[in-house]
Amino acid sequence: MAIDEKRPTPIRTDGTADFFEAAKRGEFMLQHCRNCDQCSFTGYKYCPNCYAKTEWRHSDGIATVKSFAIVTESSHGGFKKLLPYAVTTAVLGEGPTLSLRYDGEVGNIAIGQNVKIAFEDNGPDEATPVWVAL
Ligand SMILES: [Zn+2]
Repeated sequence: MAIDEKRPTPIRTDGTADFFEAAKRGEFMLQHCRNCDQCSFTGYKYCPNCYAKTEWRHSDGIATVKSFAIVTESSHGGFKKLLPYAVTTAVLGEGPTLSLRYDGEVGNIAIGQNVKIAFEDNGPDEATPVWVAL
């Protein structure tokens, strides 16, 4: 595989189209239930708590690192150029937990530190969320 091989991007569905449209503008969105106001990030149009419809709302994307794993090897050419990188699980202030790549030096990440969502520009129609140091 070539070192400049394009990395796979998240799969879009009817439920995530609004999220990825906002991502292209650099805006992070979470789902809020129209009935119970529970916040979620499932990509489905219905609340996991009460099954009512959800709507996408802006979030500041600030979270606390819960765990991380440092990736040092990859068989995919698109990821090799990023090595080493940290797959980081962080809990957003609104409650949902997301596991994303940490875009920064892996030696600078620690459990309990605050991170923020940013978007990696992958061309005119694609932006992928990543964690960055706050
Ligand atoms: Zn609900």
